[in-house]
Amino acid sequence: SIVVTGATGQLGRLVIDALLATVPAGSVAAVVRNKEKAADLAERGVELRIADYSRPETLAEAFEAGDRVLLISGSEVGQRVPQHAAVIDAAKAAGVAQLAYTGVLGGPEADFDLAAEHKETERLILASGLPHTFLRNGWYTENYTANLAPVLAHGAVVSNAGEGRIASATRADYAAAAAAVLTGPAEEHLNKAYELSGDIAWSHAEYAAEVAAQSGREIAYNNVPAEAHLAILTGAGVPEPFAAILVDVDRAVEHGALALRTGDLARLIGRPTTPIAVTIKEALNAS
Ligand code: NDP
Repeated sequence: SIVVTGATGQLGRLVIDALLATVPAGSVAAVVRNKEKAADLAERGVELRIADYSRPETLAEAFEAGDRVLLISGSEVGQRVPQHAAVIDAAKAAGVAQLAYTGVLGGPEADFDLAAEHKETERLILASGLPHTFLRNGWYTENYTANLAPVLAHGAVVSNAGEGRIASATRADYAAAAAAVLTGPAEEHLNKAYELSGDIAWSHAEYAAEVAAQSGREIAYNNVPAEAHLAILTGAGVPEPFAAILVDVDRAVEHGALALRTGDLARLIGRPTTPIAVTIKEALNAS
């Protein structure tokens, strides 16, 4: 089977959608921790396998010999190395044919805090000897466009990323790439690392200008020092540890860590990536 973990998450659901567009539902399995949340997937004919990354014993039945597996990285920052290790061990014990993993753009070169668990996971996968595919995802455009409300309310985009650029793409773009490496001839994608990012790298100033143009509002770009950004985020109710992660990401953005463009994503999906202007338009229409 083609097996997707994190299938009830935002990316996972889009991967399932992309798979069901090309392969029969009976060949797709979803590894989920919450069966109720996956009821719609079961209704579409997807096999459910219930397992929690944090409970290794539950992973024993999650995979079968020959499965092509997508491990979608977990969302519990700080817990992810042992969690992913448990998934890798279970995949190894089952004898899966392919383990694809959603890591981070730049792989071992990514030098921001949030990348550490992804780098360690890639090391564990390499050490396992499993045939693998590294899907090193750049930033989701939705990380920004899902937060348009405060931008519109304050008339400003705030960051400490300076003029650094971000080659973001939509979750649907990354999901289509994941589906492509799970369904194409496996040999083509085994033991490869894809650096996945958007075709266009934009700056926060350009983002502010595009939101302004589309909304008809005045939107400034306020580039502030890291400490000031941290204070603004925590003042707005973002928990300090997460705010610190966001500030650290902006620091990395400023020196180009998320601007890498290799064309891998457009090549895998066979079309250009979704421009941020399109995603902004959708977000404004939905708000
Ligand atoms: P979501 O938070 O929507 O989905 C995360 C998925 O992981 C959910 O299905 C969740 O299950 C599952 N999960 C988390 N913990 C466990 C666990 N202990 N056992 C089993 N499943 C678990 O994130 P997205 O879909 O948007 O993104 C996917 C991943 O990409 C994130 O988890 C994160 O690692 C990374 N990411 C990347 C970003 C980027 O810009 N490139 C931005 C943000 C995250 P459940 O549905 O039950 O909650």
